[in-house]
Amino acid sequence: TPSSVSVPLKRGRDYAIRYTSLRDLPGILHDVGLRTGKCVVVTDENVGAQYRSPVRTALSSAGWIPHVITVPPGEKSKSADQLQVLYDDILEWGIDRDTPVIALGGGVVGDLAGYAAATLLRGVPVVQCPTSLIAHVDSALGGKTGINHATGKNLIGAFHQPNVVVADLDTLGTLPQREWTSGMAEVIKHAVIADADLFSFIEEHLVDVMTGRRRDLIHKMIPRAAKVKAEIVAEDEKESGRRAILNFGHTFAHAIESVAGYGTFTHGEAVAIGMRAALFLSAQRNTQAIPRENIDYVLRAIPQQHDPSELDWQDVRRAMQSDKKNKGDVVRFVLLDRLGQAYVTGDISDAALRQAWDFAT
Ligand code: NAD
Ligand code: ZN
Repeated sequence: TPSSVSVPLKRGRDYAIRYTSLRDLPGILHDVGLRTGKCVVVTDENVGAQYRSPVRTALSSAGWIPHVITVPPGEKSKSADQLQVLYDDILEWGIDRDTPVIALGGGVVGDLAGYAAATLLRGVPVVQCPTSLIAHVDSALGGKTGINHATGKNLIGAFHQPNVVVADLDTLGTLPQREWTSGMAEVIKHAVIADADLFSFIEEHLVDVMTGRRRDLIHKMIPRAAKVKAEIVAEDEKESGRRAILNFGHTFAHAIESVAGYGTFTHGEAVAIGMRAALFLSAQRNTQAIPRENIDYVLRAIPQQHDPSELDWQDVRRAMQSDKKNKGDVVRFVLLDRLGQAYVTGDISDAALRQAWDFAT
C-alpha cells in the first residue's frame, strides 16, 4: 500500500488520502494544521459500534475534545430531518470556525456530515474517514456533499473538499459482503473509464477481489481506484467537463434505483447493470475497440439480489429522462471509446436504449 495518494486542487487546497490506522488520526490532524480543541465525530450505528470508541480514545489521548454523534444507518439518514438533528446537536454543544467535523463511515455519513460541515458557520474543516468500499474509492474523495429530497437523490448539496482523508483499509474487515461486492462496481467503473491496467488486475484476480479476503490485493487495488477519482476530480473539480465520465453506468443505475424503490438494489448493483447497458451501447458504436466480453464477464461477477428484468422499461425510460445530470431534454450517457477511455454523449435512439436494456437485464 502506498502511504498516501494526493488530490491536487487549485488555490492551495490540495489534500492527501493517507493510508494508515485510525489510531493515527490525531497525528494526521496535526500534520494538516488543525489545532487540538473541540472536534465533532459523525458516524452511524453499524460503524460506530466498531470504531467509535477507539477513535474517541485516540482523539482524547492526544488532547482533543471529541463530541461523537451517531445517526441511524442507511440512505434515509441523508435527509433534511437528520441534518437538522446534527445542526441542533452541534450548535448547542458549541463550535467555532476551526472545529473539524470528522466523518467516520460510508457514503451516507460522508455526504451528510460533509454537507453539515460545508454549511455550519459557512464552512468548517471536514476530515473524511471512509469505512465502506464505496467511500474509500469514491464518496470520500472529490468534495461532493449533500442530502436527498423527496423528489430525488442528492438534490441538495455543496462542494466542500476535505482537509485530509484518513483511509484505514482494515475497517473493511467488518463491511458486510453485499456492501463489498456493490462497492466493487465503482472500482470496476474507475478501471474501465480510466485505468486499463487496473482492469487487467481485477480480471486476473477476479474471484479473490470479489470476496475481498486477500489483504495484499485489496491494498493494491483500492489506492489505484482512488487515484483514478483523485486525478479526474483534480482536473475538473466542479464537474464542468471530464468529471462527468465518473457517471459511467449511472444514468441507467439511478433510474433502476428509483423505479425499484431505493434500497431494493444497492447503488453498486444498479451501477453494475447500468454499466452493462452502457457497454452494449459503446460496443454497438465501436465494435472493434472494446473488449466487450471481458468487461461483461467482470461485471457479471457482481451478484444481483433482484431481477432487473422485472422492472417496467417505460418506467425506467421515464426515470432516465428526469436525471439531474441531463442538459435540457437530452438524456446524457457516458460511453467507452476503448477500455480506459470514456466520453459523454447525448445522442442515443430510443431503439438502441431498449436493446441495451434487454441486453443488460
Ligand atoms: P452507507 O454509508 O450506507 O454504507 C453501507 C452500509 O455499510 C451501511 O449500513 C453502513 O452502516 C455499513 N458500513 C459501512 N462501513 C462499514 C464497516 N466498516 N463495517 C461495518 N459496516 C459498515 O453507503 P455507501 O455504500 O458507503 O455509500 C452510498 C452513499 O454514498 C449513497 O448515498 C451515495 O449517494 C453516496 N455517494 C456519494 C458520492 C460523492 O461523491 N459524494 C459518490 C458515490 C456515492
Ligand atoms: Zn456511483
